[in-house]
Amino acid sequence: MISVVGSVNVDLAVRVPHLPRPGETVQGEDAQVGLGGKGANQAVAAARLGADVGLVAAVGVDAFGRLALEQLAREGVRTARVKQSPRPTGLALIGVDASGQNSILVSPGANADLEPEDLDEAALAGSPWVAVQLEIPRPTWRRALAAAREAGCRVALNASPVAPGLDLPDLEGADWLIVNEVEAAQLLRVEPTPDPRRALEYARRLTGCVANAVVTLGEQGAVFAGAAGEGHAAGRPVRAVDTTGAGDTFSGALVVALSEGASAAEAVGFANAAAALATTRTGAAAAMPRRAELEGHWP
Ligand code: ATP
Repeated sequence: MISVVGSVNVDLAVRVPHLPRPGETVQGEDAQVGLGGKGANQAVAAARLGADVGLVAAVGVDAFGRLALEQLAREGVRTARVKQSPRPTGLALIGVDASGQNSILVSPGANADLEPEDLDEAALAGSPWVAVQLEIPRPTWRRALAAAREAGCRVALNASPVAPGLDLPDLEGADWLIVNEVEAAQLLRVEPTPDPRRALEYARRLTGCVANAVVTLGEQGAVFAGAAGEGHAAGRPVRAVDTTGAGDTFSGALVVALSEGASAAEAVGFANAAAALATTRTGAAAAMPRRAELEGHWP
């Protein structure tokens, strides 16, 4: 089993001709209501690719919480460790423009109630791999890293979002660090670069406190460096219509391939293919590919 420790949101997404500037109202298309949040997204990504997945998270006792739990169950994600909190379910308000770029407002709600105590021994039992992201309170994700280490699990840490003041040593203990080009630059206190050669240098510099680092580069694919080797998996040429959830698809797919014994290059290639496919459809979880669509990529 893969345990995912992270956030659950309900996403309200609207396609608009252009993203609003401050003070501006933009008329868009019909709203799409779907499951979101990095934890839920990565859990669904991994489950759709055939993994047995358990989610450790928190939702509210409200209609959005019920919607999220139902959707997770429909995707085959185990929800026994999703606790119910008195706060409202996390909510993301997403605008997507004509070019597929997005702009997102997030209300964390119940996600702020996921506590270190929720990461007891039983939470990660039977999970050789644990996927963690940073949309939950810092003491909680720190506890998740420590609990995984104590239990002998391998950890894939998607360090997103990067809060001000977050330092590389805070991420110590992760076997795989996954960040996009902006997050890599934030962690290293340098300028973001879309250039794969420079990004590979960034990936190398990220591996001080973690064993391996992957920097995703949007349409340019991803670079990786560390104990398991280094390289660049070129982006797949696709017609992207909505990149919402591309990063989560990448992280979920990477963990699935690694948990199945893929090499670094194979796992990054698989994740690249899965994420590229997700950009060709609208929505976050809704756009994620199923295993059959990735035949020939891994194994
Ligand atoms: P998001 O926040 O939109 O979910 P992100 O900023 O975290 O994404 P990106 O680097 O933009 O991460 O994208 C993650 C992965 O998705 C890339 O490494 C790549 O595999 C795939 N991807 C994203 N955009 C494209 C695209 N236009 N064409 C092909 N693949 C893409």
